Amino acid sequence: LLRIASATVRFGDRAALDGVDLDVAAHETVCVLGPSGSGKSTLLRAVAGLQPLDGGRVLLDGADQAGTPPHRRGVGLMFQDHQLFPQRDVGGNVAFGPRMHKVPRARRDRRVAELLDLVGLPGAAGREVGTLSGGEQQRVALARALAPEPRLLMLDEPLGQLDRSLRERLVVELRQLFGQLGTTVLAVTHDQGEAFALADRVVVMRDGRIAQTGTPLAVWQQPASEFVARFLGFDT
Ligand code: ATP
Ligand code: MG
Repeated sequence: LLRIASATVRFGDRAALDGVDLDVAAHETVCVLGPSGSGKSTLLRAVAGLQPLDGGRVLLDGADQAGTPPHRRGVGLMFQDHQLFPQRDVGGNVAFGPRMHKVPRARRDRRVAELLDLVGLPGAAGREVGTLSGGEQQRVALARALAPEPRLLMLDEPLGQLDRSLRERLVVELRQLFGQLGTTVLAVTHDQGEAFALADRVVVMRDGRIAQTGTPLAVWQQPASEFVARFLGFDT
């Protein structure tokens, strides 16, 4: 479904992405791990079309996305910091994508209600965003990312600022949700437990490059380098 080939992004003389190759198959959930500054968010933004590439290509279903604007890529991105629209209520936030795609009002409203149920916020459509807790906002951001039924859902630290018990509950809910919807997911986290619980495959990044990719078990059992082992918390 997604092919990233030799993707390179430079900021000044520093490469945030340095020739990244990554394939994500349909219905697969891939989690990107790596230290702060290793290029995880840049990778997602490049796939979404929000960050131009200095080299390499992004292909979706075989089609090169160069020149395709973000809203035409059929991908959803949930940002690291939510970025909900404060001037719209919950329903207005979730309905944003479908409205852009001119989905008729009645279907849009139905979809919003379904998604709010799905993320555990039934009946919240009329709430003001500013009155929601952090965890509730995170769920709204997730519903908004899911609303246009993206062929690829990208999540940047989706459970970032949540407490442990909420994270653990949401990880289970998300895993179920993705299975149920057949969603293809590329998610960033720096929580290993989260990655290992969610992912069919994990990708470990370091300095804009992929240090290792494999099933969670394979990466855990056989870290490819001292860096990966250290990052996973093994004493080396
Ligand atoms: P974190 O875990 O802290 O979110 P990350 O892996 O998502 O980190 P990125 O946000 O992708 O890291 O950033 C990768 C590198 O690129 C960092 O060194 C960052 O400072 C740099 N960078 C990212 N965006 C820009 C920008 N717009 N201008 C200049 N440098 C940038
Ligand atoms: Mg980031």
